[in-house]
Amino acid sequence: GFSPASRISTIGVSQILKIGARAQALKREGRLVIILGAGEPDFDTPDHIKDAASKAIYAGATKYTALDGSPELKKAIQGKFERENGVPYALDEITVATGAKQILFNAMMATLNPGDEVIIPTPYWTSYSDIVEIAEGKPVLIACDAEAGFRLKAEQLEAAITPKTRWVMLNSPSNPSGAAYSEADYRPLLDVLLRHPHVWLLVDDMYEHIVYDDFKFVTPAAIEPKLKNRTLTVNGVSKAYAMTGWRIGYAGGPRDLIKAMAVVQSQATSCPCSVSQAASVEALNGPQEFLKERTASFQRRRDLVVSALNAIEGLDCRTPEGAFYTYSGCAGVLGKTAPSGRKIDTDSDFCAYLLDEADVAVVPGSAFGLSPYFRISYATSEEELKVALERIATACAQLA
Ligand code: PLP
Repeated sequence: GFSPASRISTIGVSQILKIGARAQALKREGRLVIILGAGEPDFDTPDHIKDAASKAIYAGATKYTALDGSPELKKAIQGKFERENGVPYALDEITVATGAKQILFNAMMATLNPGDEVIIPTPYWTSYSDIVEIAEGKPVLIACDAEAGFRLKAEQLEAAITPKTRWVMLNSPSNPSGAAYSEADYRPLLDVLLRHPHVWLLVDDMYEHIVYDDFKFVTPAAIEPKLKNRTLTVNGVSKAYAMTGWRIGYAGGPRDLIKAMAVVQSQATSCPCSVSQAASVEALNGPQEFLKERTASFQRRRDLVVSALNAIEGLDCRTPEGAFYTYSGCAGVLGKTAPSGRKIDTDSDFCAYLLDEADVAVVPGSAFGLSPYFRISYATSEEELKVALERIATACAQLA
């Protein structure tokens, strides 16, 4: 019979995908399920980016490119890091991969030896711990609840560092919490890292353009240049430019790390898609005005969702600084029973109840390493969000 390699034996199929599959199955049965699970903008890729891609196809950009990114795209990324983040990277300190997910994978495969520890604050994007485990590292999970603003504290970081710590992974704004680190939030953490030169910092800035209320996005390599030689600054075009399907992510970091990551990539995917790279050059160098409008639209939806959630007894939602998720506490509905007799003991029970009996698909906090919470992705129309929140309110009111 088949048995999987031990390196993947601890990793299940993502709960998010399972819920998505169940929601789709209910839809096929004719139920009008509203899915608030997807981690992608509902906007389309802008036309000027699509045009650049089709031009590139006819101009012959249909062959392998340089291993970890075409010179044109690396230049565009270099310009972006300078212009938007104030961080200078040389071209050989930049790498491009098939999504930020592959960037993370390349980085962990290139650096972790079995048992090396990676500090990950919870709630975290589910792939972080799974990628660390595939690379035979050990995720060290640290709970950062709503009261802490879903942010890691310097004392927690200090206490978690051991001689085996290789990385700490931070994500601002965060999927799933929407919480972001200001410069003042980052500073004490960076001071801890300055005292532990064996620990490297991976920052995932995927949602940098989706921030609200004049929140000022900053990246650690800009705040503390002394950490730049052990920081990997990860970003991508997926969320900012509504380009999830194009599969382009990138990073800036120390030359030797970037080189080692290219070794992994060379035996996995050779190079990122040539056409998508050409499109990404246009995304980064082209007009940026539409980003503001899109963020304003996300902010309206955030406000709608947060206030509707907080009006529901038993739920408690912190206002996120960015991204397009809410991560709402649901401690107040646990221990209750639905009219059907179903007991709600955990956030997973609550989400299963919402899906089965209220036709709304959301993801339980257990999928992101911190309970009891649930994540809503509000990258869907305001009309659908309103209906979904009414359904959640009704479902909660029926619990006793
Ligand atoms: N980082 C975070 C925090 C994400 O939420 C995602 C996607 O959901 C990614 C990275 C990966 O993005 P991609 O592989 O599409 O570049």
